[in-house]
Amino acid sequence: MTDSYRQRPDFFADVGKRAWKDWTWQQRNALRSCSGLKSFFSLFPVRWERVACEWERKGFRFMVTPYVLSLIKRDKKGNPRENDPVWRQVFPYFGGDKAFEVRGTLKVAGPDEYSPLKENWEEAREMITPICQHKYENRAIIFVADSCLGYCMYCFRSLQSCAGEERHGGLSLWEKTLKEIRKRPEIEEVILSGGDPLILSNDMLGKLLGSLRKIKTIRFIRIHTRAWTHNPFRIDHEFCALLKKYAVTEMGVHTIHPNEISGDFQAAVGRVRESGARTMLLADIPLIKGVNDNVSVLRKLFTGLYGVGVKPYYLSHNMPNIPHAAEQRTSVREGLVLYNKLKRRISNPAMPEYIITHKSGKKTVPECAEGTPDFVYGKDKNGWPVIHFRDWNGKWQTYLDAKGQKMM
Ligand code: SF4
Repeated sequence: MTDSYRQRPDFFADVGKRAWKDWTWQQRNALRSCSGLKSFFSLFPVRWERVACEWERKGFRFMVTPYVLSLIKRDKKGNPRENDPVWRQVFPYFGGDKAFEVRGTLKVAGPDEYSPLKENWEEAREMITPICQHKYENRAIIFVADSCLGYCMYCFRSLQSCAGEERHGGLSLWEKTLKEIRKRPEIEEVILSGGDPLILSNDMLGKLLGSLRKIKTIRFIRIHTRAWTHNPFRIDHEFCALLKKYAVTEMGVHTIHPNEISGDFQAAVGRVRESGARTMLLADIPLIKGVNDNVSVLRKLFTGLYGVGVKPYYLSHNMPNIPHAAEQRTSVREGLVLYNKLKRRISNPAMPEYIITHKSGKKTVPECAEGTPDFVYGKDKNGWPVIHFRDWNGKWQTYLDAKGQKMM
C-alpha cells in the first residue's frame, strides 16, 4: 500500500507527518503557479515551464497538492516522468516538441475546439438560480463552490474551474436557492457540486447540509468531490461525522487511475466506514486518452475500487468542450472496445456503466459496436464523427465524438 508521506518529494523532506496529513497544510503548500515550479523541481525543463506559464497567462488555473506530487513517479533529475498518469492529469503538457508547439498556444484542431464561451452541460433555462441547475425532474445540482482542491486538465467544468471565472456566484445565493427548491416539491434529491464542495470548511458544510435536511421534500443528498485524489486528508473525521449526522446518501468518488488508490485514499474510505455513515461511495471515472484508455489500467482501477468498497458507477466518455479535447479524448467506439474487453471478465459489480454526457443529459453507450436504432454513429457535413441519439425525453440529439486512432 503506497504511503504518500514516505514518497514525498525532497522539497518536503523536513515536513512532519502530522502536518502532511492535515488537509489545510496540503492546500496551503500546493504548487499553484508557474513561478513555483522551479522551487519544487530545481531542474524543471524550460519547455514545460513555458507551457505552464502560457496556461496561466490564458487565465487557466493550475494547482497540485504535495500529496498529488507524491503520487507522481519522478525521473533521475527529480522531475515528474512525462507519461506519468497522474502528472498528465494535472499539468498542461503531454507530448514531445510537436505537442508543445500545439499546446504552447492552446490550440486544438477540429470542431471540439475549446471555447470559454461554450459550456458542455448547463442549459440556461435549467438554472433555477445561478448556482442551481434543475435538469432531471426529481433532482437538482447546486454549485456551492467555484474553486477546487486541485485542477484537472480534462475538466468538463473548465468554465468555472479551470478558466478562473468565478462564474456561479457562490453561497450568497444559497437562501434564494433553497427558496426555489421549496417551491418545487418534485425535487427529492440534491447534489452538492462545484468546483469542489469540499473546499468549504466542515462548519460551512454542516450549515448547508442542516438547511437542506430541514426541507422535508428532500430525501436524498449527494456530495461530489475530487478530494479523494487531490487531498484525501480532507475527508477527515469531522467531515465523516457530518455524513452520518445529515444522512448523506451518496458521495461521488472521482477517480481516474489505479495509482490514485493509495494508502491515504483507502484510509479515507475507512474513516467514512468507521463514522457509521451509511453513505454509498460511487466512483465516476472519466475516460482519458493517454491516462486510462487501456484495458489493464481500467481492470486494475475497477477491481481496485471494488476491492476497497467503492462501486465503479460511471465510465464517462470525455466531453467535447474541454481545453485539451484533441489530445485527451478517445472515440466512443474505442472506449467501447475497452469496455467490452472487461465486461463479464471481471466481477459484475466492479463494472461501471459506460456513458456519454450531453447537455440534454446522460446516455448509456450500447454494447453493440454498430450502435442501435437509438444510438447511431455517423459523420457531420465536415466528416467529423458524431453520434445521433435519442435522449431520455425521446428527443434526437447530436454528440460530438472524437476522431479515433489505432490504440492498444
Ligand atoms: S476537481 Fe472536479 S471541478 Fe475541479 S478541476 Fe477537477 S474535475 Fe474539474
